[in-house]
Amino acid sequence: MVINLYTPGHGDPLDTLIVNGIVLSLMEEYPDIKIEVLKQASRFIVKILNKDDINERNVIDNAIMSIIEDCELETEGKIGLSFSSQPAVRPENIVKAINGALSHINSSKSSFIEDFSDELHAMKKQEGRGKEKRNLFKVHVQIAPFTGSYLRLPYMTVGNTGTASKAGFKAEEADYIVCPFCFIFSWAGLIKSTSIIVFSTKNKKSTLFILPSPVKATQDDVALLSLIFGEKVEVVRAGDREIPALGGVLYSMASGETIGALSAQSLLDAIYWVSAKEGNFISVRSFGSMPLLNVYKFVAEAKRKSPFLVRLIDTIADREPELLTLLTESLVIPGYNIYDIVRSLWAFLERIEKTDKVPLDIGIVDTLIKLIK
Ligand SMILES: [Zn+2]
Repeated sequence: MVINLYTPGHGDPLDTLIVNGIVLSLMEEYPDIKIEVLKQASRFIVKILNKDDINERNVIDNAIMSIIEDCELETEGKIGLSFSSQPAVRPENIVKAINGALSHINSSKSSFIEDFSDELHAMKKQEGRGKEKRNLFKVHVQIAPFTGSYLRLPYMTVGNTGTASKAGFKAEEADYIVCPFCFIFSWAGLIKSTSIIVFSTKNKKSTLFILPSPVKATQDDVALLSLIFGEKVEVVRAGDREIPALGGVLYSMASGETIGALSAQSLLDAIYWVSAKEGNFISVRSFGSMPLLNVYKFVAEAKRKSPFLVRLIDTIADREPELLTLLTESLVIPGYNIYDIVRSLWAFLERIEKTDKVPLDIGIVDTLIKLIK
């Protein structure tokens, strides 16, 4: 019997985090499980093809353990790090909320298979803008940049200063709330599949989040890309270097393990956003998504053909991170001229000192030529 689960349709990145959280928690408990994921508008359908006797308690425990273990790392964990630019809530509050969600699941004897099988999940559970209750939990900006107590224009501004807040474009103050399962799986998705890079200068802290989004994928595709992105946790303290979101996708991917191949028909996006705190002003910016396959192909193949790819990407990230954006764009947007790209790389390498030189290996150039048409 095939089990169909539906994410609630809150939009990105919340639904992507939920779908990754569900698929990865299931896979870790049942390594032989077969799953197909398909994105349909703002929600995902998860088809469990070969298991109808799932021990839900074990899957929920798996998701919760990943969250609790991360919170125990305090400021070194993903949750601790992700709050550096949005300091309203600390890891200990997340642990408390997770325990609350679990005790509600236990007392109400609810089943996530049953709840997510219902396409009207979000409506029936009264998820969305509203007040926190015993069975409804506030989602934080880290897992849903569109949340926050105040919804103001411009869309992504959650600060309470600036002209938009005075202009009268103010929605009624309300939190964004979800059921215990959405709450638990979204945080688990953040821990298991999201790359987090924190840039820190004297007056400014920003956190770049990147995660793979399975548009059409199998359980192995989700696992492979989550392994690559999920392992990337970095704090960049020195200087002003800040990797732009698009460039960050290539940067995170290049430093990960590109072992194994994606399935032939798969389609995956990367979703990214930056939360920033500059002085007292808090904002979310650079929120978007991009197709991921060509970037994956580039990294996987260039790594096979050249031992210098990781060093090249790291050197660019250190010195001229904008060049990473150009490289990423050339891989995903048609119309870039390959010679311009190679010339830009060449000129960059000419500018850096002899001691840090990285060769522009033929294997890297060949792969670029193949992929940039
Ligand atoms: Zn829910």
